[in-house]
Amino acid sequence: MKNTVFIQFYSIINSSFSVLNGFSDTYDLCKNKGDFVWMENSGTDGAALPGETAKCSYIEDFPIDTGIAYISCVYLSHFNQVYIWANLFPNVKFIVGGPLIDLNFSSIYIPQNNFSIPFNITLSDKTVEEWFGVKNFSYEWKLVPPKIEKPYDLYFSYSLNNYCYWGKCIYCYQYCGQKNHIDREIFSFDFKNVEYDGKLQVRLTTSSLTPFHILKMIPNLSLTDKIKYYKGFIRCNSEEINLLKTIDPQIIKKFLLTTGVEFPSTKMLKYMKKGATTKGLLQSFHTLRDLGCRFEFGMILGWPNLDKQDIKELELFMQNIPDDMKHSKLLLYKLFCFSGSPIQNYLIKNPDKVYSVGPFELGFYPELDQEQLDLNEEALNIIIKYCKIKNIYCNDRYSNVG
Ligand code: SF4
Repeated sequence: MKNTVFIQFYSIINSSFSVLNGFSDTYDLCKNKGDFVWMENSGTDGAALPGETAKCSYIEDFPIDTGIAYISCVYLSHFNQVYIWANLFPNVKFIVGGPLIDLNFSSIYIPQNNFSIPFNITLSDKTVEEWFGVKNFSYEWKLVPPKIEKPYDLYFSYSLNNYCYWGKCIYCYQYCGQKNHIDREIFSFDFKNVEYDGKLQVRLTTSSLTPFHILKMIPNLSLTDKIKYYKGFIRCNSEEINLLKTIDPQIIKKFLLTTGVEFPSTKMLKYMKKGATTKGLLQSFHTLRDLGCRFEFGMILGWPNLDKQDIKELELFMQNIPDDMKHSKLLLYKLFCFSGSPIQNYLIKNPDKVYSVGPFELGFYPELDQEQLDLNEEALNIIIKYCKIKNIYCNDRYSNVG
């Protein structure tokens, strides 16, 4: 083992072997500098939400005790893991980057605990290429997954860019205000050759597919049987959605798109700075359904500022979505105000409803009075009623509004 390592986190979730973060975009560059080390996150998808704790299997059995460890963090639990290692291994220098660090990371400190980042951690908002002084996306993409017995689908990321071109939604903890933007402009789709026995699920990573991606990248995607599907996030924006009509239907059928509705009323969409109207969202739903595209859409409940008009518009929206939505799925969430998201400035933090991972603050649920609890409950009942009518599978993450 060299004394420079690149740590790759992975998780096994349902039927997939998920390796969403890591160094595959810069495989040969990293391979020149050190060794790759796989580490399993137990738990779910890395404690992205309160109540989920991701643990790494290798707490003390860290591969080096002197040298440099490069780590890409997606979730706060990843960074908490680095924090534990940094205290255990003072002779290892931890260079930490990834989506979590690109954001306004200082917002997740808890200063009142006299907490400070260990001296052997260096935070970097640079890409791996920038860190080593070479051009972004100039290196070979390659993924060499660890050997596993069961033939899970391999779920991995192919980066298109690292930001959201919209970047305004107030509840979004991911990409608002991020400055270091990078874009892949040449698509060679090297992942076609990945050596793996099972099927591939490819996440085309961007927080929002752009017209450029739809025109220049999607038409050239491989349709080999080995690829089960491509996943991507898209805004329900008429320009992007209408451009999908120009794509070969065989490619569209390979897609699983995820989009956000959040709360479909004029006031709430404006409040969230969603940049969408209920009419535009409905048109997008009809287009996606007519194209035969599988899609997931997110909705959020647990708002502290609903009124009767919002409920009325929600019901109208649910009535008017296409009748048979068997290719779609609703991802229903409870509003959580992530540290670093703009919504934290709008809502009052209740100290009893703050959630942390190690010494880092993840965020909080806003307080709801009885009137708001009732309105959110009413909204929930409408959503459930129409999911049954319209044949929409709904996840069960949202069990109550309190
Ligand atoms: S469109 Fe999505 S990624 Fe972009 S700011 Fe809104 S919630 Fe965040």
